[in-house]
Amino acid sequence: MRLLLSSLFALALVGCQNVPVTGRSQFILVDESEVASLSAAEFAKMKKLPSDPRLPKLREIGLKIVAAARRDDKAGVLPPASKWEFAIIDDKSPNAFAMPGGKIGFNTGMFTQAPTDADIAVVLGHEVAHVICRHGSERVSQVIGVTIAAAVADEATKKSSERTRSSWMAAVGLGAQYGVLLPFSRSHESEADYLGVLFMARAGYDPAAAPAFWSRFAKSGKQTPEFFSTHPADSTRVKQLQAWLPEARAQMPKRP
Ligand SMILES: [Zn+2]
Repeated sequence: MRLLLSSLFALALVGCQNVPVTGRSQFILVDESEVASLSAAEFAKMKKLPSDPRLPKLREIGLKIVAAARRDDKAGVLPPASKWEFAIIDDKSPNAFAMPGGKIGFNTGMFTQAPTDADIAVVLGHEVAHVICRHGSERVSQVIGVTIAAAVADEATKKSSERTRSSWMAAVGLGAQYGVLLPFSRSHESEADYLGVLFMARAGYDPAAAPAFWSRFAKSGKQTPEFFSTHPADSTRVKQLQAWLPEARAQMPKRP
């Protein structure tokens, strides 16, 4: 127990940080690199399609988005370009994710919802925004807060640390097969939407693809975990995205 608490206190020193662009302050109890290594272990287990012909395009768009996001990365959260790993996941549900540390997964089922380069940029802009905002670490920190209380009540060291570990796994794990998924909050989703359209615009994609993507998806009536479930109500989201378009368009590269 003493060991568990002392390591948690050491982690707590990481403390308060700010979200890029929005400036919202967040309390983070974990070291980003620890979350990244845990994420990498999960990512390694996923069923990827390394020879899918769409992979080079996905990587190309993804790296453009990452380069565009870097301008706001004052805290150095985004890994260098060489560290990013892009994968097409053999899964028919329309889902995508970006893990701390630069692991990006894009399900085969997402390509039917996001057929064009601009659509893919909508999805990747949103996901890279989750990474630069450290939403994963913030979510893990919330879980740890709850877990500390449980651990103190428990007094069974082994059981408590096991519980901490599984909570971490749940918090960073993506997809039902990796455990219970803790969804991002609505404010995280709105933040990722906002930064996502800025990043895609800077990368040269028309941000108008974002509200179009979401209204199309709303009409299809499909629901899946993570990417679509806790997102703001579709009509609110589309309205918000439309309101951000002028700001995003102003950041598009000038054409010669
Ligand atoms: Zn999201």
